[in-house]
Amino acid sequence: MRSFTYERAKTPQQAATAVAGRPGAKFIAGGTNLLDLMKLEIERPTHLVDIQDAGLGAVTDTADGGLRIGAFVSNTALSAHPRVMRDYAVLTRAIQAGASGQLRNKATTGGNLLQRTRCPYFYDPNMPCNKRKPGSGCSAIGGFSRQLGVVGVSDSCIATYPGDMANALAVLGAAVETVMPDGATRSIAMGDFHRLWGTTPEIETALQPGELITAVTLPRPPGGKHIYRKVRDRASYAFAIVSVAAVIQPDGSGRVAFGGVAPRPWRSDAADAALPTGAKAVAAKAFAEATPRDDNRFKIALAERTLAGVLAEARS
Ligand code: SF4
Repeated sequence: MRSFTYERAKTPQQAATAVAGRPGAKFIAGGTNLLDLMKLEIERPTHLVDIQDAGLGAVTDTADGGLRIGAFVSNTALSAHPRVMRDYAVLTRAIQAGASGQLRNKATTGGNLLQRTRCPYFYDPNMPCNKRKPGSGCSAIGGFSRQLGVVGVSDSCIATYPGDMANALAVLGAAVETVMPDGATRSIAMGDFHRLWGTTPEIETALQPGELITAVTLPRPPGGKHIYRKVRDRASYAFAIVSVAAVIQPDGSGRVAFGGVAPRPWRSDAADAALPTGAKAVAAKAFAEATPRDDNRFKIALAERTLAGVLAEARS
């Protein structure tokens, strides 16, 4: 690991200003992904700005009946929060499907959204990777791509966003609150937060340089049945091959997001509109523009079958 300097910010804006004012600076929260990447020298920050003292650790009710989750709230605390368990259970289930107990104790709400892909070539500095080194090529295209994306990908990168929590946030209609170095704030809809790769896969989110996630907000509880189903190669501590987050109402309508298939939680209004007609119709809409590789084509059928199981569970 390369040497770096470190400071703790006392406020969110102080953190944003510190990162924006120093080339190579980065935020650190739980560090569960960043430190691994630093040890591999994939991430090489010159300065870390720790946000643990910046007052971002609370979960509070909002005036409209929703919930505001501070960016530093741990995954463990969030999944066990009484209102999340009661009103947003798909979020509890998604978080508990991810990583290990130890990692969930350290991983944070903001950091979870910013975790980087688990494409094996991204983690191997000896292999070309447009995301790690722009313009160097993509080893996964024509290489081993079983784990990688089938939709929303590009000729530059076919990696997936690997997380679970964000899939639940997508079906819940969450928004990401941020602060800029000049103190301005904004709210980014979950569906706009993660970028599709296009020709610049190194740019993964809508965040501007120095912009800090301060919270995630949830609208009023949607009701319905909350289900998260994750298909993976082993029973725990593995990333999704395919996952489905769903909130299904008694009349069969609802919202659904697929994980493990795209650069972002993959959902659309057209796919949701097909929910009362069944999994086949939803998958046809969701994957209409899929561009799978030979060794990950199976993900489309697997996503449809996983959703069929979710819909059967919702009816039971
Ligand atoms: Fe890199 Fe993306 Fe290609 Fe993986 S899929 S090697 S992350 S460019």
